[in-house]
Amino acid sequence: MSFNPKEYQRAYYLKNKEKAAKVNKAWYWAHREQALKNAKDYLFKHKEKKYANQNQRRRKYRLELIKKLGGKCKRCGFSDWRALQIDHIKGGGCRDKELHQGWRGDQIILNNKTGKYQLLCANCNWIKRYENNETNKRLVF
Ligand SMILES: [Zn+2]
Repeated sequence: MSFNPKEYQRAYYLKNKEKAAKVNKAWYWAHREQALKNAKDYLFKHKEKKYANQNQRRRKYRLELIKKLGGKCKRCGFSDWRALQIDHIKGGGCRDKELHQGWRGDQIILNNKTGKYQLLCANCNWIKRYENNETNKRLVF
């Protein structure tokens, strides 16, 4: 059997996990400023990659959501995902949006079984908002 450094490192890590955690924690608190700066620099340096991953994840959830909600507008049958929006059947979308932001919100909708969401195209969504008087009161149409 040949020596595999990766396997050795993994085994060493698993054996000394708690000790390593203690050492790392001690180092962090002794060099906190530096650690925070390093983390910030790393994020800045890999910004593009981070946003690409984020966008990919968001798109994945969005497509899953659209698929789950039927894949087309409930009123007119329009099916281009780029202009489909998730509509709250009884309104209250702004409140909901404040509560659950970002991809976490998508996940919550994905796991929601109350049926309070439906898929509408952008036009139908705005028309519905106007008909049901769900528009922002400050905006005048
Ligand atoms: Zn429509």
